[in-house]
Amino acid sequence: PTVRAVGGPAIRNMASVGGNLFAPAPYGDFAVALLALDANVATEDSEVPIETFLAGRDASRSIVTSVTFALPRAESFRFLKVSRVKPKGVSVLSIAALLQRIDNGTVTAARIALGCMADRPMRARAAEKALLGCRLTPDEIAPALAVANEGTTPITDPVASAWYRAEVLPVHLGRLLLE
Ligand SMILES: Cc1cc2nc3c(=O)[nH]c(=O)nc-3n(C[C@H](O)[C@H](O)[C@H](O)COP(=O)(O)OP(=O)(O)OC[C@H]3O[C@@H](n4cnc5c(N)ncnc54)[C@H](O)[C@@H]3O)c2cc1C
Repeated sequence: PTVRAVGGPAIRNMASVGGNLFAPAPYGDFAVALLALDANVATEDSEVPIETFLAGRDASRSIVTSVTFALPRAESFRFLKVSRVKPKGVSVLSIAALLQRIDNGTVTAARIALGCMADRPMRARAAEKALLGCRLTPDEIAPALAVANEGTTPITDPVASAWYRAEVLPVHLGRLLLE
């Protein structure tokens, strides 16, 4: 589902995963998913967690040779791209979540990555923390939604303003979590 959300068939045929790691917001939807998945990015010189790689990408001069991650259980990974034009519009924002839950539905670990909420994919750390110990019900996820924007600096572009992105992030995160 994440791959299919990137551009149209022609873009997907040509654009690479390595290039997506460098794509400035509003692009980089695939990198958002890779950040939630805690991927490792290998270059000719080193292998680092994607979060470290993204933080230093502006100074990076190495060729990315592989990107790897542990395949999640299907039910633990969720991805949402919000765009005004379907099916291949540019992102208003994108959200990827990797949630580990025990049998009664309680969240025991959460990684949530956001696209368009900064100049590059970022984690919603406050929301991740607030989700721990919660079940995915409207009442229990409310504290996580309340802090979803913590640390964000959304972009403004012709698709949406920073204000709009900040307003709708909790709405879409809520939909993703209650899916
Ligand atoms: C019409 C259109 C629609 C698009 N829609 C989307 C979308 O919906 N979602 C989305 O996320 N993106 C979208 N994009 C952006 C595009 O998908 C990504 O930027 C793409 O993944 C880039 O891959 P590329 O191989 O073309 O990289 P390039 O654009 O060729 O390169 C981007 C940058 O990354 C560097 N680079 C590329 N590969 C490597 C590597 N292996 N190692 C080191 N540096 C590297 C290049 O030097 C360059 O600086 C769209 C682009 C277009 C033109």
